[in-house]
Amino acid sequence: MQKRNIKVVFKDYNHKQNLLFPPNIGDLIDANHPVRLVDKIIDRIDITSVLETYKGGGTSSYHPRMMLKVIVYSYLTNVYSSRKIEQALQQNVHFMWLSGMTFPDHNTISRFRSEKLNGPVREIFEQIVKLLIDQGLVSLKEVFLDGTKIEANANRYSFVWGKNLVRNTQSIKRQLEELWNYAQKVASQEMEKNEPDFKEISPDKVEQVINSIDKALKNKEIDPKIKRKISNARKNWPGKMQRYDHFRKKMGSRNSLSKTDTDATFMRLKEDHMNNSQLKAAYNWQISTQNQFILGYTLHQNPGDTTTLSEHIKELKKTLGKNPDNIVADAGYGSEENYQLLEDNDINAYVKYNYFHTEQSKKWVDNPFRIENMHYNHDKDCYYCPMGQQMGFIKEGKSKTDNGYEQTIRTYRAQNCRGCPLRGSCHKSKGNRQIEVNPNLIRLRNKAREKLLSEQGLAYRSQRPVDVEGTFGNIKHNHGFRRFLLRGMDKVAIEAGLLAIAQNIRKMAG
Ligand code: SF4
Repeated sequence: MQKRNIKVVFKDYNHKQNLLFPPNIGDLIDANHPVRLVDKIIDRIDITSVLETYKGGGTSSYHPRMMLKVIVYSYLTNVYSSRKIEQALQQNVHFMWLSGMTFPDHNTISRFRSEKLNGPVREIFEQIVKLLIDQGLVSLKEVFLDGTKIEANANRYSFVWGKNLVRNTQSIKRQLEELWNYAQKVASQEMEKNEPDFKEISPDKVEQVINSIDKALKNKEIDPKIKRKISNARKNWPGKMQRYDHFRKKMGSRNSLSKTDTDATFMRLKEDHMNNSQLKAAYNWQISTQNQFILGYTLHQNPGDTTTLSEHIKELKKTLGKNPDNIVADAGYGSEENYQLLEDNDINAYVKYNYFHTEQSKKWVDNPFRIENMHYNHDKDCYYCPMGQQMGFIKEGKSKTDNGYEQTIRTYRAQNCRGCPLRGSCHKSKGNRQIEVNPNLIRLRNKAREKLLSEQGLAYRSQRPVDVEGTFGNIKHNHGFRRFLLRGMDKVAIEAGLLAIAQNIRKMAG
């Protein structure tokens, strides 16, 4: 084939040539780029609370407004580690523009995030939410509430279980008492007369008792096994008791903690597409959203959603200046305590309860034996069973939830079930059928049902997964935030605040 003689032309390339006028980095950034929005918003934020964390004296510090812009922008662009932020400051033109070509290292970035933002981050978040309200991007009409568990920066195998702490402490107590009894037998004269109270033992007490036993058995001929046990007890038990005490105090009302982040609790995390759960140290992050803007967030150490509502609505009111009109949430929040809390705060509860969907089924509606389907007579305060027999009031009892909320349970009993043809389907107890009813819960559920089945309720129910679950999906899957980087409740709360700020600015830019 004959070669065609056409000249190839290349563009000029000389990257080592000096520029006569160095370019302004800002010229390289698109006018509508989100980095400009971060810059604009953080410039409008009052950062007095951050400034107050500086003691003064010593060498000059990087400007906190610049540091804040850099950190917020890094959370916006999925850069979460301080080393990666340091790298971005040296390589990424957007970061260079924000930092004004200053280059704080990863230690400075990390210290600023965990020391200077501890507390101020919530204030900054609140100012951004107020900005959203002022701009009419969100209203105080409704919020969609849900929680997600995010893995803590802790070793997966570092668990401490509350029940093991109790069992191990009991075992030391029992063995200590056995050693004391043995010493009493072998060296009764040398032993102190007053037997310690083994019900209440502390690390100091364990040490004291072991020393007393040791002293009393000195120069006595004792079983080598017991000798080894005493030596092991002296070496290990006081230390173990100290550790158990420390973990118990840290654990509080929780049932587990992680040794590497003692504020984190072991929770079941649904990690893969099949929703298979794994037990990992984590935090429970609760958020309230509207149009995928985060209007409130709280961080909790317990996995369940039910107990988080009271703290969450307190924070929400603080941020918004008033309670929202409506809260939309799934059945995880549908307890009597929560319904009452919302009613007391004048918030309409579009909150499901655990059998909301089942009770719509034909099988449920047609089942005459369910308490919910029995007729209640207010005047006579009695129920009527499927045979038309009166079930009269017997007694009233009180019980308390884990949060200390008092519930009233009323018991009603049928007069005579003997010989009833429906008995096999009605109940299995030996005597007459007894039912337990919580009248306040029934009232609150009826109210919630009416709201949920209304037109507004249907619209809210279809928006809830898109709004709040969509926000979690966006942060965890699209922006790759699946594990906190910092340790301890205070520091993890900073990260949660930064995630919420970044989500809101991202939505504003979108
Ligand atoms: S078993 Fe007792 S409570 Fe049930 S339908 Fe018969 S009479 Fe009524």
